[in-house]
Amino acid sequence: MDGNLYPAFGSEISCPQCRLPISGLILTETYLCDRHGAFEADPATGELVHVQSGRRWRWWQGEWYRQHVHPDGLRFEIHYSLDDAYRLGQRVSKIQIAERYRSLLQGCLERQGQEERLFGLQVEFGPATPAWEAVNFQLVKEPGHPHRPRWKF
Ligand SMILES: [Zn+2]
Repeated sequence: MDGNLYPAFGSEISCPQCRLPISGLILTETYLCDRHGAFEADPATGELVHVQSGRRWRWWQGEWYRQHVHPDGLRFEIHYSLDDAYRLGQRVSKIQIAERYRSLLQGCLERQGQEERLFGLQVEFGPATPAWEAVNFQLVKEPGHPHRPRWKF
């Protein structure tokens, strides 16, 4: 069987919205989820696009990463993740954010001396590695006591 018959991500992927396995349609770039409808592989960008909403994801080591085009979407995802970390009692010292979001976030960052901050935490833009082409951000955590800095969304 010629692998090229299938869309760019292969004969079956997991739906980025519900994680159930969904099948690619032969001779198209389309995957169909019973619950979420059609997704299309975009071989030019390496992204999977939800046809109805235009949402985009990139794949890295077993995970889909939603690609943001509006700063609020990314800020919401970071906020959600910070909330999780604090609920688990983790101390977050820094937020690493993918370099490709630098200009998108410019208007949202607070400046403090040489540092740029988001939700009161220092922001660092990620290194140019393959992982950081897909991943959006990473919270840098420190072991220690629960610590809740003052930040607002
Ligand atoms: Zn789905």
